[in-house]
Amino acid sequence: MTSTISTDAPAAPAATLDLGPARNLVCRECHTTTPLAAEFACAECFGPLEVGYEFGSVTRAGIEAGPRSIWRYRGLLPVPTDVATHPNTEPGMTRLLRADRLAEALGVRRLWVKDDTGNPTHSFKDRVVAVALAAARALGFGVLACPSTGNLANAVAAAAARAGWESVVLIPASLERAKVLTTAVYDGALIAVDGNYDDVNRLATELASEHEEWAFVNVNVRPYYAEGSKTLGYEVAEQLGWRLPEQVVVPIASGSQLTKVDKGFREFGELGLVDPTPYRVFGAQASGCAPVSTAYKADRDVVAPVRPDTIARSLAIGAPADGPYVLDAVRRTGGAIEDVTDAEVVEGIRLLARTEGVFAETAGGVTVATAKKLIERGQLDPDAETVLLITGDGLKTLDAVEGELGPSATVAPSAKAVREALGS
Ligand SMILES: *Cc1c(COP(=O)(O)O)cnc(C)c1O
Ligand SMILES: [Zn+2]
Repeated sequence: MTSTISTDAPAAPAATLDLGPARNLVCRECHTTTPLAAEFACAECFGPLEVGYEFGSVTRAGIEAGPRSIWRYRGLLPVPTDVATHPNTEPGMTRLLRADRLAEALGVRRLWVKDDTGNPTHSFKDRVVAVALAAARALGFGVLACPSTGNLANAVAAAAARAGWESVVLIPASLERAKVLTTAVYDGALIAVDGNYDDVNRLATELASEHEEWAFVNVNVRPYYAEGSKTLGYEVAEQLGWRLPEQVVVPIASGSQLTKVDKGFREFGELGLVDPTPYRVFGAQASGCAPVSTAYKADRDVVAPVRPDTIARSLAIGAPADGPYVLDAVRRTGGAIEDVTDAEVVEGIRLLARTEGVFAETAGGVTVATAKKLIERGQLDPDAETVLLITGDGLKTLDAVEGELGPSATVAPSAKAVREALGS
């Protein structure tokens, strides 16, 4: 493990800052603009900042001719024009699978699974981290940091290793063993904190103000990081043959991904890359950490924090930063939000595996089980084309299925014993 982390001031950003089409940061609440920098809160009202753009000409042909990674969309992201020439993890262009067997099991007509387990560290977090690293490089940083519920830890440690940067990753000490090992292997600084994710997040915010030379991907460079999730929406639309699905089901942790998938669909429509057909965005949470689902069902605008207690630890954020914006996106598009028990999460993992041959982590179980519940309640239209976002790999959360699964039988090494065990 790295024992010393540089604490020098960051190098000044290049005299002319190239972040592609990004022009400024805009407050999501009061719409005040501020120059591009490592800032995340509005100086006027403390509202969250979001990247503002001036898009050049972006065409289907231009995108199709680009790299087989999220950098094919670099004209729509806050990253340098030459982003593809710097070492990074090159996530994206994961499989969009037609899921006929799962569709039949759920009783829907046309269903797709966006399989983001295929990213370099096996979760969708590689998308957001790749964008954060590229922006942080342009902003003059050389250390990548984060508080994490697990997948972000993997993605940050791997991206930093590949770029030759140092990393500082903070995790709750109770994290799944697999996610600890799959971060530690990249040999950055990995600090286990006695506390839950919300404690770790608070600590990271404090450290980010003390160490201005550290790019905390989801704190001081969060506006750039968050934009990486738009690529999930872009890819789904491109892979469907340049059109939008009618329904999409998205798991919610901080809520950032859901709001950015919506933003990605909207931008594609506004830029004329797809017909701006109506779509509905649905949110999925685990009942053991369902602050956004609870607010949605109670018809409230305020998301009250909860203390998480669920096996879906990658989604266990009790005080989700983007909660109110999730409620806006879901209500605006006519979607809904539901939550499912841990037992339903495990059943969701197993259902996806046995029907489609895709082994998802607990977050994927949340998405599948929530989709099932929304269909049973009549909230998800079974006749409308639907995409489920499967955001992480089951190998990272083996503990979730540990007690449930094993060999069908254990037999002596004879053909007769196998035949008997198979009951034939
Ligand atoms: C982080 C994460 C999400 C959701 O992230 P948001 O914070 O809501 O953007 C979904 N699935 C997995 C597997 C994750 O690791
Ligand atoms: Zn503001």
